[in-house]
Amino acid sequence: GPRSLELLRRQEQRESNARVYPRQLPIAIAAGQGPFVRDLDGNVFIDFLNGAGVLSLGHNHPELVDAMIEQLRDLTHGLDFPTPAKDAFTEAQLSMLSPGLRSRVKLHFCGPTGANAVEAAIKLCKTATGRGEVVSFEGGFHGCSTAAMALTGAVSQRNRVANGLPGVHFFPFSYCGRCPVGLTPHTCTTNCAGYLERSLHDPNAGICRPAAVVMEMVQGEGGVVPATREFARRVRELTRALGIPLVVDEVQTGCGRTGTWFAFEPYGIEPDVIVASKALSGVGSPIAIIMYDRHLDTWAPGAHTGTFRGNQLAFAAGAATVRIVRRDGILDNVGRRGEQVADRLSPLLTCPHVREIRGRGLMWGIELADPDTGTPAPEWASAVQTRCLHHGLIVELGGRADSVVRILPPLNVSAEVIDTACDILVAAVRTCFSSAE
Ligand code: PMP
Repeated sequence: GPRSLELLRRQEQRESNARVYPRQLPIAIAAGQGPFVRDLDGNVFIDFLNGAGVLSLGHNHPELVDAMIEQLRDLTHGLDFPTPAKDAFTEAQLSMLSPGLRSRVKLHFCGPTGANAVEAAIKLCKTATGRGEVVSFEGGFHGCSTAAMALTGAVSQRNRVANGLPGVHFFPFSYCGRCPVGLTPHTCTTNCAGYLERSLHDPNAGICRPAAVVMEMVQGEGGVVPATREFARRVRELTRALGIPLVVDEVQTGCGRTGTWFAFEPYGIEPDVIVASKALSGVGSPIAIIMYDRHLDTWAPGAHTGTFRGNQLAFAAGAATVRIVRRDGILDNVGRRGEQVADRLSPLLTCPHVREIRGRGLMWGIELADPDTGTPAPEWASAVQTRCLHHGLIVELGGRADSVVRILPPLNVSAEVIDTACDILVAAVRTCFSSAE
C-alpha cells in the first residue's frame, strides 16, 4: 500500500543496500500481535518469518510485555554485575537442560547477537585446546562477523568477502541432495561422517587436529536440513575420541523451535558447547550465550569482555518465556503443530518441482528445483514468497541459492492459523507450477 511504500522509499534512500527482507517483502510494519503483523496501510499478515525465528510466543505476548515493563522501572542495563533478573534468567535456562548437562556446564554471556556467541565459542575452544583450526560444514550458517562468516559454508552468504580466518575446513553435511561426489542413500557406503573420520585420522589429509567442530543440528539458513541421526552420533563419537570440542550452534534451532528445548536432545548426544541467541528473550530483545562443559573453563578474568551483556529487559522476558513454555505445554504444541504442517504440506510432494519438504518441530522448508536437471529454482521460490504475501502470509527463503521456502511460526501458534497459512502456501506453490508448466 502507499504508506508502506513511502516508508520503504525513505529507507532505500537512507540505508545501505545490504538488506533483503524489505525488498522481497515490500511492507512497513506498524504493529504485531501474536502470529500477526499489521502494515502501515492496515493490511494484516500471518507472520511466519517471525522476526527470523526470534519471537517464540509471537509478537507482544501480554505477559512478556508486562514482565519487561516491570523490569524497565527497576533496571535496564547491568553490565556483568549480578542482578535478580540475570539470576532468574540463568536459573531458567539451566532448568531446561538435562540434570547431567546442568551439573556440567558453565554459562557465558557473550554480547548481543548470535554471531558474537559463535565467536566466543570458537575462541574458548582455541584457548582450551591450544589449537587453531576449525571444522565446519557445507551449507552451515553462523553469522556475519569475521570468524562466524568464515565458518559459514555458502560463499554467497559470505558475501564474497575473502575468507578472513585461515584454518577453517568445510566437510559435507549429511544431506544427500548436496553430496559432493553425487552419491545417493542407495550408493553411499560410508556417509559424510566416515569421510570426516578418515580426514581427521589421515596425516596426509592436510588437517591438523582442530580446536573445534561446529555444527547445526538442523541447518536453518542452509535450507532446513536436519542432520541424520547416524551422522550426528558419529560426529559426536569421533570428536570425543579425538578430544575435539563439539560446538552445536543452536542459535536458530534452540529454545523450543524443533520441539525439544535444544535440537540436539532427540539425537541422544550432548555437545561440549551450546551456542544460543535468537529466541532466548522470546521478544527480540538481543542476548546471546554459550553454555560449555566445565573442562573448557580456561578463560582468565577479562579474557572475553563486552559492553552489552547485561540486557535486563531480555533477562526478564527470557525468564518469563521459559515459565510460559513450561506452564502452557508449548513444546508439545510445537510437536503437534509440526506434524500438522507436515501433513498439510505433504500433497505438494506430488509436484515435480518440489524436490523435498523438510522440517523438525516448527521449522520447515520446501525445496524447489527443476525436475529435469535438479537445478535449484530460486525464481520459483521468490514467486511463491511474493504470492504468499499477496494472500496474507509472510514466509522466508533460504537454502541453495535461496531456493527453499521456509517458515518459522511462533511456538504457541494455533491449529487454525497453521491451517490457514498452509492453505495459502500450498496454493502459492501450485499456482507457481501451473504457470511454469
Ligand atoms: N547461527 C545460526 C544457526 C543462525 O541461524 C544465525 C542467524 N540466522 C546466526 C548464527 C547469527 O546470528 P545473528 O544474526 O544474531 O548474529
